[in-house]
Amino acid sequence: MEVVTSNRNVRERASSVAVRDALGRPLASLRLSVTDRCNLRCMYCMPEKHYNWLPQDHLLSFEELVRLVDIFTVLGVRRLRMTGGEPLLRRDLDRLVTLLAVNPMIEDLALTTNGILLAEQAGALYRAGLHRVTVSLDTLRPERFLAITRRDDHVRVLDGIAAARREGFSGTKIDSVIIRGVNDDELSDLIEFGRANDAEVRFIEYMDVPGATQWSLENIVSRAEMLATLERSYGPIAACASDSSAPASRFLFSDGTVFGVIASTTAPFCGRCDRSRLTADGIWYRCLYAMAGTDLRRLLRSAAPPDEIAARIADRIGSVWRVRADRGAEQRKANHARSAFVPLDALQRDPHFEMHTRGG
Ligand code: SAM
Repeated sequence: MEVVTSNRNVRERASSVAVRDALGRPLASLRLSVTDRCNLRCMYCMPEKHYNWLPQDHLLSFEELVRLVDIFTVLGVRRLRMTGGEPLLRRDLDRLVTLLAVNPMIEDLALTTNGILLAEQAGALYRAGLHRVTVSLDTLRPERFLAITRRDDHVRVLDGIAAARREGFSGTKIDSVIIRGVNDDELSDLIEFGRANDAEVRFIEYMDVPGATQWSLENIVSRAEMLATLERSYGPIAACASDSSAPASRFLFSDGTVFGVIASTTAPFCGRCDRSRLTADGIWYRCLYAMAGTDLRRLLRSAAPPDEIAARIADRIGSVWRVRADRGAEQRKANHARSAFVPLDALQRDPHFEMHTRGG
């Protein structure tokens, strides 16, 4: 009951002030990591044998997540993406979607998933009010999928993509991390797969995100190189006009097929980054590369009336965002002696550095 009252009060105060950071970037997009657990062990994200997980009692309940999301929307967030870890491992995720979908300020409610559990859950998620899904899929070859992810679940991902379409989702995206010598010979195959499945493919440059302990500059396939390869197969490529803060630059083949490239490594887009990330245990990061976050769980669970807690959290978020001057990916690019971002021992001491904890 308390939760409902405090949410309503927050929304009633919501003549919505779009908070801007020190560089004028709005707080517009939130990635909500609903679990740090994953059912894959991708070589570019979770290459180690052992991981330390967030303590179970630190994980926010759905009601707690919704309370925080409500506050974020009052401060300007309009796009919400559930991620992880693997978000479909969070039990009853469709119930969280139902709770979030009633917030009228969320214009885009999306999910990023590896697709393994999507066939089972697509229908419930669609009916709960999820707008869109992005499925990560780096290869169309089952044996390669096993080598990249260390799990033999390729067919389940393909089934998941088919199920999403069948259940009614449109605007589906397929995200593929392209790594030299691993899957850089599949650009055209992935484009064809996207076409056949009514999904827009986005190629992601290999990033030195925390957790990518095997990352090296030599393994990156740059956006320029990807475009040159695709141009050899498909002819001239035009850039789509875009003024959005979306991470992908979008391109067009002469037959009208659109695809995207997320060039976070060679052409970072910090200047228009309006994204922040909330971990499943309530730590908020204003940059993927931030060394520290803001503990919203402690505030949320403090002993005070719900309205007062909501006001304190809103103040904290606002004050942290207003002084934000982070340009993490650009700083990484400027570092010419670049290797893995966070050493393994630091990652193992604090799982909050990990991409699968922060939310990809
Ligand atoms: N489990 C979900 C999934 O697979 O989509 C959501 C979490 S995953 C961390 C989100 C995205 O981050 C995936 O598309 C994944 O490919 C991407 N990612 C992880 N590590 C990366 C890296 N080193 N470089 C580029 N993208 C990466």
